[in-house]
Amino acid sequence: MTSFHREYISCPYCLNEEETVVWDQLDACEDPDLKDRLLRKQLQIFDCRNCGRSHVLARPLLYRDENAGLIFWLDPQLQNQETTAQVELPELLNQLQLSNQYKLRIVVSSNELNEKIHIADYNLDDRVMEIVKLAVLAWQKEEIRIVSLYFLSAEKDRLLFMAQGEDEKWYQLPVAADLYHQIELLLDAQIAEDKGWMRIDSAYARPYFDKLG
Ligand SMILES: [Zn+2]
Repeated sequence: MTSFHREYISCPYCLNEEETVVWDQLDACEDPDLKDRLLRKQLQIFDCRNCGRSHVLARPLLYRDENAGLIFWLDPQLQNQETTAQVELPELLNQLQLSNQYKLRIVVSSNELNEKIHIADYNLDDRVMEIVKLAVLAWQKEEIRIVSLYFLSAEKDRLLFMAQGEDEKWYQLPVAADLYHQIELLLDAQIAEDKGWMRIDSAYARPYFDKLG
């Protein structure tokens, strides 16, 4: 079920206050158009009618896709916490009726949420992908050092990432798909079982990456 509420939000630029729709839950099966808007970063947006500027609202969002067996919980407030191992889940999540087949993920930014959706859309495994990202970052030969990386799409022979350099500019970075398949083969048996709410990020992937040597 998709749900939203309305809230008075003040523009950070001109302080004009306006009633705005804030999305609480997004059901991708019922509302694929909203999923598209989310991926285009046009969902949690405040458009100021006074100064014409817009900004992204960093708000919690429950994303679910029953067909793909995905439930993602975005909580931007967790971004500043060092570890999310002790996350207290909101009542909303505890009330969900969940079977074991669901992939449950906690993410802390809209970039992470979109990345998880893209990974699932290409039938890839986000646990393997986080290890691949550590490998790309560690073995990079880029002139301008890459500081962050998000998976975007996959073709037959290559994966495409959005990369942000030290100069803060974003660009697309292709990576041989072989890297993914090799890491998957090497670590498949070792990767921990997918169970309950998990935060799959670089901290999760680090011990596996270290085993690669
Ligand atoms: Zn404004």
